[in-house]
Amino acid sequence: MESELRPGAAVLSDVGLETDEDLWVDDGSEDHGGWYCVRTDPFPCPAEGCPFVAEFMTAAHLVLVWEERDDPNLLWHAQRAKEVGRNPRVTGYEPAFGPSASYYAWEAAGRPVHGVKRK
Ligand SMILES: [Zn+2]
Repeated sequence: MESELRPGAAVLSDVGLETDEDLWVDDGSEDHGGWYCVRTDPFPCPAEGCPFVAEFMTAAHLVLVWEERDDPNLLWHAQRAKEVGRNPRVTGYEPAFGPSASYYAWEAAGRPVHGVKRK
């Protein structure tokens, strides 16, 4: 019955410490228009056999969004993405990009992901 939250220090490039069969959904379909997300070069979902290709920084197929463009957390993740060659560009989120999830809601939910990239 433990529900421990993993605080801070989320690293998107190591997203996926375990395979998660049920994709997580942010509570409520909040409208994140006007928030910010990070567009990246396309990269495939790390879950085996999953056809999803992300063009944004995502978690469990949801576009991660931050309320402030200069959120240090956003900038940190953009830097990480840059380091692994994903060519990140911070951009205003539009609903047309696909379903979104607040980064902080995602983190509070325990950072659920779709799958693991195994080494
Ligand atoms: Zn997937």
